This record gives sequence, C-alpha cells and structure tokens, in this order.
Amino acid sequence: RIEKLKELKDLPAVTTDGKQSMLVANIGTPKDVEGALKNGAEGIGLFRTEFLYMNRNDFPSEEEQFEAYKYVAEKMNGKPVTIRTLDIGGDKKLPYLNMPDEMNPFLGYRAIRLCLDEKEMFKTQLRALLRASAYGNILIMYPMISSVVEVRKANAILNEVKEELDTKGIKYDKNIKVGIMVEIPSAAVTADILAKEVDFFSIGTNDLCQYTLAVDRMNERIKDYYKPFNPAILRLIKNVIDASHKEGIFTAMCGEMAGDPLTTVILLGLGLDEFSMSASSIPNIKNIIRNVSYEKAKEFTEMVLNMSTPDEIEDASRKILYDII
Ligand code: PEP
Ligand code: MG
Repeated sequence: RIEKLKELKDLPAVTTDGKQSMLVANIGTPKDVEGALKNGAEGIGLFRTEFLYMNRNDFPSEEEQFEAYKYVAEKMNGKPVTIRTLDIGGDKKLPYLNMPDEMNPFLGYRAIRLCLDEKEMFKTQLRALLRASAYGNILIMYPMISSVVEVRKANAILNEVKEELDTKGIKYDKNIKVGIMVEIPSAAVTADILAKEVDFFSIGTNDLCQYTLAVDRMNERIKDYYKPFNPAILRLIKNVIDASHKEGIFTAMCGEMAGDPLTTVILLGLGLDEFSMSASSIPNIKNIIRNVSYEKAKEFTEMVLNMSTPDEIEDASRKILYDII
C-alpha cells in the first residue's frame, strides 16, 4: 500500500473526470522542504514563520529571514511558496516583545493586530519577503484578518516597503501575490468584500472551527464540540470558495481539515482549489482525489449540505470514502 502511494508522487491530483487540484505542503522550518518534495508537494501552501522568532532573545534580523525565505523559494524551484507573516500571540509569546497577560489570549493581541502596531518589526519581515521573492515564486499571506480594514493597513505598509526597495534599486517580484488566511468567522462571512482586495484566500480551519464553534482548540474537555463537519463550518467554507471564484481568485485550505481523508470529497465538491497539509498526508489525499469523479463529489456535497448534524455528515463521509478506496 505504501509502495503504491509512492508511485503517485509525480502524478497530478486529478479526478476521474479531469478536475485538477493543487496538493501542497505546510512547513514550519526551511528543513521541512525536503519532506514536502519527497511526498510530491506541488508547492508550499503555508510556511509558518514563527520559528524564526521563537526560542531566542531578540528579533531575527532581516538578513536571517531573507536567507530562510530565499532557501525555501530556491529549493521549490519556481513552485509557489506561500509565506505567512508572523502569527505570534495567543499561546505563543516572545520574551523580547512586550505582550501583557490577557484574559482571552486567543481573542487578543496577536498576529496581524500586533504586526500593525509593531511597524518596524513588520517592515523588516516584509522587506525580507520581498527581497526573497526575486529568487522564486513567493506569495505573501496575512494571518488573523477580521475585515478588509486590516488588509488595507497591511498593504499600505507593504507598499511603503516596496517604495523603499524601488528607491534603492533592490529587486523583488513586482507582481507578488498577496492573500489572507480566512480563519475568523467575520472574514468568512464577508468573503465577497475581501475577495475584491486580495489575490487569494487560504482557509485556516483550525482557528475557523475554534472561533465559529466557540471551542478552545487546546481544551481536551470540550473536544467533542470541535467538529469540522458542523454544518456551520461547511457553509462558511462554501461561502468563501464561491466568493473567491466570483472574483476570479483561488481558495486554498491550510488547516488540519485539508489533510483529513474524511473531508476530501466534500472539499472537492465545494470546489476547493488547493489543499495544504503536512507533507506525509499528500499521497493519501491524492489517492482519494484520483479515484473519485468531480460530478460525484458535487452530488455528495449537495446532499451533505442538507444534513442537520455533524455526525450524520461524518458517517456519510466515512461511507463514501470506503466506496472510493
Ligand atoms: C489554522 O488556523 O487553521 C492555521 C492553519 O493556522 P495555525 O494552525 O497556525 O493557527
Ligand atoms: Mg490560525
């Protein structure tokens, strides 16, 4: 079975009736690129940059970041590399940054909110990202966007950095794509508004589930309430994908749901363009996609969108998965 999955490495993730999806990898450090390539990733869908900032006593320099981003871009050799700007806060703190204790850290001062305040820190990262974009196919992604307001503020800072680079004659990809994580319910609901101002979406189901269902993703005691199959989650995902396609942009998913075999047929049926997951899950998900038709996936998805409970949807998904593989 493992051998058979290995043979899939260089084959596309295409349904029996010809609908192709992108299967890409989530990585946490530059070293992870090796595993991504070994498993046939067609790109990096989420490069979490927190590793650069954690377990140290001071900010990482522009040069250090530039080297890390450039390394990944070059290793991926023209394949897309989506790099997420700093998503610190919540449970992740930095000793060298003043981050006061909060009653609800996951609803607090984190990610883009913090970056928009710590402008010099943010500009350093954006400068490193832009410079690295001259060496490959880099896309920039902002985390924890709740409305178009943060997108505009972040883009204003990005434009400042671009102008500074232009003045100095430093090269970067002038057409670099800028997208957002859709992981806050307000962003999913207003996807039609956001789609007009970004180049792509990536749905972060880990946080989207946490915030939509009001279930702390770290709390074991309430884990039975954490259900990606909740109809609310499926409706939000559908809304995001439909809104993106209406504006001619693509939707990826980089939360755990994208690598869960039980959800593959639904996500396919909803029209998800790109699945980003830990590299080791790629062969398995590809195998599912290659053994189902898009027509059947759409039919199935229409059926489950009419169901009332997460368990009904999960049972139906288990059944269709067994039929397929
Ligand atoms: C998510 O929220 O789904 C996500 C991919 O980001 P993280 O797990 O890093 O919060
Ligand atoms: Mg998240």
